[in-house]
Amino acid sequence: MNCKRSKELFKEAKQFIAGGVDSPVRSFASVGGDPLFINKGEGSNIIDVDGNRYIDYVCSWGPLILGHRDNDVISSIKAVLERGTSFGAPIDLETELAKIIHESDGGPSKIRFVNSGTEATMSAIRLARGVTGRDRIVKFEGCYHGHSDSLLVRAGSGTMTLGQPTSPGVPAALAKETIVLPYNDENALRDYFEKYGEQIACVIVEPIAANMGLIAPKDGFLESISEQTHKYGALFIADEVLVGFRTCFGTTVSKKNLDPDLICYGKVIGGGLPVAAYGGKSIYMDRMSPDGPVYQAGTLSGNPLCMAAGIATLKRLKRLNPYGSLEKLSTALYNGFKQSADKHDIDVQLPHAASLFSIFFSKTEVNSLHDVKNSNLPRFNRYFWFMLNNGIYLAPSPFETAFLSIKHTMDQIHKTVEVFDKFLDEEIK
Ligand code: PMP
Repeated sequence: MNCKRSKELFKEAKQFIAGGVDSPVRSFASVGGDPLFINKGEGSNIIDVDGNRYIDYVCSWGPLILGHRDNDVISSIKAVLERGTSFGAPIDLETELAKIIHESDGGPSKIRFVNSGTEATMSAIRLARGVTGRDRIVKFEGCYHGHSDSLLVRAGSGTMTLGQPTSPGVPAALAKETIVLPYNDENALRDYFEKYGEQIACVIVEPIAANMGLIAPKDGFLESISEQTHKYGALFIADEVLVGFRTCFGTTVSKKNLDPDLICYGKVIGGGLPVAAYGGKSIYMDRMSPDGPVYQAGTLSGNPLCMAAGIATLKRLKRLNPYGSLEKLSTALYNGFKQSADKHDIDVQLPHAASLFSIFFSKTEVNSLHDVKNSNLPRFNRYFWFMLNNGIYLAPSPFETAFLSIKHTMDQIHKTVEVFDKFLDEEIK
């Protein structure tokens, strides 16, 4: 692949933008190389500035479940653009999107829109602290909940990729209020709550962990969070920013009949524009300013263009109900990869859930961050570059997840499997 123009643009960007990127996960730092600059997207493809075309499994890190430049999304944004770009006053579209989410599986009684997943989780934590009068929170190792101070402690995603799971600059006094327990370890949670349960404001969890690759919750793990929090008067926060609306029309926890106190949304609910939200039971949400004392605000929150993109996306998802077909695609990807790995006698784990997919080069099942770190990371790097050089665009890190959209086709899945098969041919040479 010729990536000359991308390289020139990155060199220039680095002179004016910190690290040349506005989010570290976009750099290819961990796999050793320069990122591609994208010219445009088309359905399930992206085309870089050198004219190379790729099947896109990043989908803007999750939001684009309808693929790039979906007609409904584009025309809704255009229509709203005629009214204006921002008013800083309430508009009808905010309530429309709130109602759609309220009516979705596991939807909250009340919601508030913000601009990023970081703001959503940060605000939910503040609300939990405000409601309980307690400072200490519990999160799980390798879960990423955005980059607010309290949550940037032994996190996943880019922090793991770049080797800084706890960032300098997070005040020690605050970090010590964030207790980090191992994911999928019911006993560790129970033991901790037995000793300190009455000091805990909330437990925040990714109900399917997707920022250390994809790791499903073990049976009983989420149930034990619900049980322990409620036993000790703490709040249960489901961070559905990444997985919400990706495996069903609503929250993943609703499929397990769990009823979290607060839910965080992002990504899909904004259809590619900056939208996230937190919501939950009215008894808690009514404690937010202006009705209650817990403060949170945003100049551009509920922005008209963003609301329009979110409404168009969710309406389309509701109409289509594409989760079964997405599951077929990811299962086909699983089957193809598995067959090829078996043929080459290469150890691989291939977790997938509807539109989410990831790969670990590991002999044993991967259930925690520790297991991810013990997988064959150099092989992942080689996999990343081989796939990229053959037209498959994946996240440049084993700590991330691949995303499918409704625009991906079975032909593209077969093409991806073919490239993977060639990669494994190289690996055993
Ligand atoms: N929570 C989860 C589960 C996430 O995956 C992310 C981002 N990948 C965030 C929160 C933070 O969202 P944002 O990047 O929009 O701040």
